[in-house]
Amino acid sequence: MTPYTGQLEPLITAAAGAILFWVLGARLTANMRFELGRGRYAGAFPFLGAFIGAGLAGGVFVQQSFQALAAAAILLAIIGFLRDRQRFSYLTLLPWGALIIITSLFAATDAATSSIFVISATLWAILIIVCLKIAALVYEMPFILLATSALTQFIYFSQHQFTQSAVLVNLALLTSSVLMLLYSTGGRRVLTGSSGIFTAGFLLAAVSLLEGSGSMLLFGLFVPSMVILFPFALISGMIVASYFGNRLHHGNSRERLYAWSLRREKTVLFAGLFFLCLNFLALLVLIDAPTPAYFALFLLFVISLFVFVSTFARKDAGNNAPMPRQIEILGIAVDAVVPTDVIERITGYLQQNMPTPETAAQAIENNTDSNSSSLFHIVTADSLALVRAGEEIRFKSAMQRAALVVPDGAGVVWAADFLGTPLPGRVPGVALVSQICEAAGKYGWKIFFLGGKAGIAEQAANTLNKEHSINICGIEHGYFAPDSEEEEAVLERIARARPDIIFVALGVPRQEYFIARLRSCLKRGVAVGVGGSFDVISQTLPRAPYWMQRFAIEWLFRLWLEPRRFMRMLGIPVFVLQILRHKWNNNQKP
Ligand code: UDP
Repeated sequence: MTPYTGQLEPLITAAAGAILFWVLGARLTANMRFELGRGRYAGAFPFLGAFIGAGLAGGVFVQQSFQALAAAAILLAIIGFLRDRQRFSYLTLLPWGALIIITSLFAATDAATSSIFVISATLWAILIIVCLKIAALVYEMPFILLATSALTQFIYFSQHQFTQSAVLVNLALLTSSVLMLLYSTGGRRVLTGSSGIFTAGFLLAAVSLLEGSGSMLLFGLFVPSMVILFPFALISGMIVASYFGNRLHHGNSRERLYAWSLRREKTVLFAGLFFLCLNFLALLVLIDAPTPAYFALFLLFVISLFVFVSTFARKDAGNNAPMPRQIEILGIAVDAVVPTDVIERITGYLQQNMPTPETAAQAIENNTDSNSSSLFHIVTADSLALVRAGEEIRFKSAMQRAALVVPDGAGVVWAADFLGTPLPGRVPGVALVSQICEAAGKYGWKIFFLGGKAGIAEQAANTLNKEHSINICGIEHGYFAPDSEEEEAVLERIARARPDIIFVALGVPRQEYFIARLRSCLKRGVAVGVGGSFDVISQTLPRAPYWMQRFAIEWLFRLWLEPRRFMRMLGIPVFVLQILRHKWNNNQKP
C-alpha cells in the first residue's frame, strides 16, 4: 500500500473530483423518481460519486485495495437498494453483506492479515452501519456523524503514518456528507436510504481498517455505540423522571425539557454536539499534540454549542395547521385534547343524558338504565398503558371502546411529537380529577370515589370537597379481588348510587377492566380511570423537600419512597423502542 506522502495536490484534486461527481450524480438523477436527496433509492449515489471521483482524481483507482473497496461499496449499495424496495428482509441480506465485506477486506488488506482481524473488522463494519441506520431516524443525522467522523479521523491521521487510499476514502466521505448537509439546509428532506447508509457505513469502517490500528478501531466503535445509546437512554430517562415528578404541578421547565429533545432540529443539534464532545475526548487521549485541525474541530464545537443554546432558548413557533382530533400511537387513538375540552365533552354528555323522572324510576326498578346511551369511559393513558395495549387484547379493546383516551404522561406527548403528529399537551390524571370536581361543584354532579387503600379515597374526597363543594354519592376502598363477590357488591352499590361521575383508582389495567364490568350495571355516567391520583391528592405520599423540587429531582425522592415503581418503569425503554421502530418502519415505506 502506498503511504501518504503529505502532498496537498492529490487531496485538492480528489476533493474537486468528489464534488464534480457528486454534482454530476445530482444532475443525472434530477427529476427522476429517485432524485438525489429526495428518494431513498438513490442514497448511495452521492457517496459512490465522491468516492470514485476522489479515487480517479487522486490516482489510486488502479490500486487493488481501492478497487476491492469500490466493488464492495457498489455491491452494498445494490443490497441497500433491494432492502429499500422491500424485496428482502435485513436477515436475508445480512449474510450477503457480511460476505461482501469479508471478501473486500481480505482483498484490500495485506495477504498476511489474520482471519480473526477480518472477522472482527466485518462485525465492526456491520455495527457502524447499524449505528448510522439508527441515526437515520432523524434524516440529517447520518451526514453529521459521517462528516464529524471523517474530520476527526483526519486529525488522528495527522499524527500517524497512513495510506493514500485511507486519506482519499476519508476525503470522499467528508466531501459527500458535507454536501448532503448543505443540500438539506434549505429545509429539503434529504434521505440516504439503506443503500447510502450501507455504502457510507462500510467506507467509514474501511478508512480506519486500512490503517489497521487497534486504538482507532476502539475509538470508532466507542463513538457510534454511544451515539445509539445516549439519545435512547436520555428519552427513556426523561419519561421515567416525569412519572416520579410532581404530578400536580407540572411546571414549564419539564415540558420544555422533553419538547427540545424531540424536535428534529434540536435533536440533530444535540446529537451533533454530543458526538463532537466524544470525538474530542477520544482525540485528547489518542493524539500527542493538538494540531490546527484539532482547534478547527474545537471551533466547530463552540459554534454548535452556541447554536444549540440559542435554539434551546428560542420559543417554538406555534404550528398553525389544524390539529387532528385523534392521534394514533402504537395502534391506539389518543384524543388531541386539553383539560377544558375534556370538561366540555363531559358536560355535553351529561346534559344530553339527563335522566327523566320516568326513566329514573324504571331504572331503579330494573336495576338498569333504560337510556340507550352507555357509560362515558375516560382512559388516562401513559406510555406503559400503550405498551400494555399492544400485549393484552382485553386491555386494548377496553381502550378502543372508551369515549376518550387522554394523554397522561410525558412519554405519550413525546411519542406524538416524535411521530410528527404533536398533541396539544398532557392531560395529567391528578389535574383532571381536580378540574372535573370544579365543574361538578358548579353543575351539581354526583361523584363516586373508588379505589386506593382504606381511607385514602375518603381523604382525597374531603380535600376536593373543601376546594370545590362537591356532591359525594359514595366512597369505597379498592382492595377486593377481581370477579369476587365483594366486587359484585361494590358494583351493586355503585349502580344504586347512580353517580354522574365515578373516579376509579385501581391502577392499570385493573381499573379499565372494572369499568368494562361497570358498563352492564351503569348505563349513564362518566367513569374515569385515575390510577394513583387519590394518593397524590390525599397527600399520602409525602412531598419532596422544596430544594429537591427546585432542582427537579423530586423523582429521586419518589423513587426512594416507591422503589417498586422503578421496576415498572423498565417498560419505558420498551415503549421508546417501539416508537422508534414504528417511525423506522414508516420511513421505509417507498
Ligand atoms: N389499588 C387499589 N386496588 C388494588 C391495587 C391498587 O385500589 O387492588 C390502588 C392503589 O392503592 C393506588 C392506585 O390503585 O392508589 C394506583 O396504583 P398504582 O400507583 O400502582 O397505579 P398507576 O398510578 O400506575 O396506574
